Amino acid sequence: MTLRVGVIGTGTIGRDHIRRLTTVLSGAAVVAVADIDRDGAAAAAPPGAETFDTAEALIRSDKVDAAVICSWGPAHEEQLLAAIAAGKPVFCEKPLTTSEAAALKVMEAETAFGRRLVQVGFMRRFDADYRRLKAVIDAGELGAPLMFHSVHRNASVPAGLYTSDMPLNDTLVHDADVSRWLLTDEIAGVEVRLPRRSRQGGELRDPHLVLLHMRSGAIVDVEISVNIAYGYDIRGEVSCERGVAALPNRPATVVSDLRGIRQAIPEDWRQRFVEAYDQEFREWIAAASAGTATGPSTWDGYAATLVADAALRAVSSGNLEPVAMIRKPELYDVPAAKAA
Ligand code: NAP
Repeated sequence: MTLRVGVIGTGTIGRDHIRRLTTVLSGAAVVAVADIDRDGAAAAAPPGAETFDTAEALIRSDKVDAAVICSWGPAHEEQLLAAIAAGKPVFCEKPLTTSEAAALKVMEAETAFGRRLVQVGFMRRFDADYRRLKAVIDAGELGAPLMFHSVHRNASVPAGLYTSDMPLNDTLVHDADVSRWLLTDEIAGVEVRLPRRSRQGGELRDPHLVLLHMRSGAIVDVEISVNIAYGYDIRGEVSCERGVAALPNRPATVVSDLRGIRQAIPEDWRQRFVEAYDQEFREWIAAASAGTATGPSTWDGYAATLVADAALRAVSSGNLEPVAMIRKPELYDVPAAKAA
């Protein structure tokens, strides 16, 4: 059976996911697209796919079995609620929502429906290097994890479109999610320190040093630099009681010439995480074809939203800001080892 997918939001990542669902992976076909910019949607539609005027009409259509949401964050809540109301599996790019209240509404709707339908786009959980790192920590030979050093560097971000809050409400969600998942822990509080500002980004507040205080007492430090010029560089190292486990430097061809010996660095997230996105969708297609969702859940999206909110509060207050989560609904109580 081929899963008939409708893609909402045909911007940068929407088009990349259409390409992957259409030309890379099997088991799914993009049969519908929608975007506020109807012409943009029509241009991104693969041959034979229908262009809808609204996300809601696409979700309701009998031709669509499952939806992929790639619109901007503030639109996610309504689109997720529409997918849950229609009982259709839905992949939603991060962030799940842009407020705690919205995340709770989505969670209430999904728990009332009684089956998981939502997978959130935290693709690092599907990256082979991160999965191997998690396997080492879970095996326990190194003892309990004490610290996780997480580094997120972008070569540059679009001037004007990118605001000073975005490293915390758009980027930190990835490091927050991967910290919870890698350490099998929850985040209890967030501190933010602002180093000397980089002149690369003009007036932009950049870089950020974020401290995530985990419930176990472990601490995660996150460097977010979004204008570091040299490339897209993601690093991670976990210090445990009896050893250290780190993500490897990505293998790349070693070039030797007059300028020396060097390896290329990915330009952006599409290059660095291409295999992770493919795997994320492979697993999504399998679950959605069975009418459900696995992988990062609404609960995980809610947790990341709370951390982003706390980080923004921490910038203003200069204090350690608490993260207060509701009791986890049973629907999301998957044994840690099984959760992707
Ligand atoms: P983008 O290039 O701006 O694309 C978003 C598209 O959605 C635009 O075409 C936009 O139209 C459209 N849109 C906005 N509101 C809509 C609505 N209510 N209904 C239908 N379409 C709507 O942004 P992007 O970089 O693709 O990012 C999209 C989402 O993916 C964001 O949530 C972002 O955080 C996430 N993302 C995730 C990753 C990852 O690593 N997992 C990487 C990049 C992005 P207009 O331009 O006309 O507003």
